[in-house]
Amino acid sequence: MLVVMENTATPEQIDRVVKVIEEMGYQARPMPGETRTTVGLVGNDGRVDGSRIEALAGVAEVIHVTKPYKQVSREWKQENTIVTIAPGVSFGGSEIVIIAGPCSVESEEQIVEAARAVRDAGATALRGGAFKPRSSPYSFQGLGKRGLELLAVARQETGLPIVTEALDDEGAHLVAEYADCIQIGARNMQNYSLLRTVGKMDKPVLLKRGMAATITDLLMSAEYILAEGNTQVILCERGIRSFDTMTRNLFDLTAIPLVQRLSHLPMIADPSHGTGLRDKVIPMARAAVAAGADGVLVEVHPNPERALSDGGQSLYPDQFARLVTELRAITAAIGRSVAPTPGTAAPARG
Ligand code: PEP
Ligand code: MN
Repeated sequence: MLVVMENTATPEQIDRVVKVIEEMGYQARPMPGETRTTVGLVGNDGRVDGSRIEALAGVAEVIHVTKPYKQVSREWKQENTIVTIAPGVSFGGSEIVIIAGPCSVESEEQIVEAARAVRDAGATALRGGAFKPRSSPYSFQGLGKRGLELLAVARQETGLPIVTEALDDEGAHLVAEYADCIQIGARNMQNYSLLRTVGKMDKPVLLKRGMAATITDLLMSAEYILAEGNTQVILCERGIRSFDTMTRNLFDLTAIPLVQRLSHLPMIADPSHGTGLRDKVIPMARAAVAAGADGVLVEVHPNPERALSDGGQSLYPDQFARLVTELRAITAAIGRSVAPTPGTAAPARG
């Protein structure tokens, strides 16, 4: 339930609404807006009688949010949420953010070379998995903590903020020490314990759509994070399973405008896992940006043939550089721009 205050409501009147909600046994979340404040009632509000609140001074109206997700909905908050993962790197505004890098962190040389290549091409953030959710237990599982340390080296070398995945509750705390944004992968989209854990953190979260998840499922999973207090959530379309084996997944472009209509959270696209095919990544990245995505996540490897995971869908650095140039042209055509590469590189070592 959402209590919309009149634009003339005084701080005392807002406090009173908060107190009454708390007396009723719920949490109140005041959200000051540009012209007026709204106060959200957090919890299962199915049985709440709004009339007691409606009668309070300064209340304009009480809105019952009918969807199973509340805080992530546009009914709850109309303006876009801006999620900032590092100074100057924000999702949800007019700039689109390009996150690029290898599927996995493999060695210091590999991640630093990849980071330099994507930075020089115009990327805004670096990705790379240290903890890898592999379909087979016998595939490369990532370097773990060492991988996080190498990502920190790459950030130091290039100034790029780091997006990297956490697989479980314990790992999430470790990942949070190193990452600028914690990725929750497709396989963990409905790991509610993990969602609650990152929901309690003060760290941006990139939540990827599960491979068999509906858009409502994705938004309900995001709600778990917001319900714990963390509103810094970026959503990501990464393709869903289909009957067609031509592509790795069916990249659902329509999810982009759909989610942006239903939610105030930023929505980005991952055409790498979405297609699984290097030569399909480029057209689908262009399409995602044209469709309004707030960013793209693209796998780039300095040497894709030697990659320990997802080499077949990883772009060569020169392909990525051309893609960034194209994305600049596409954003310009729709009144947006590509977020600039942050910071300046630390002096090269040695
Ligand atoms: C990844 O980003 O490398 C990854 C494993 O993605 P997803 O969870 O979408 O499969
Ligand atoms: Mn991958």
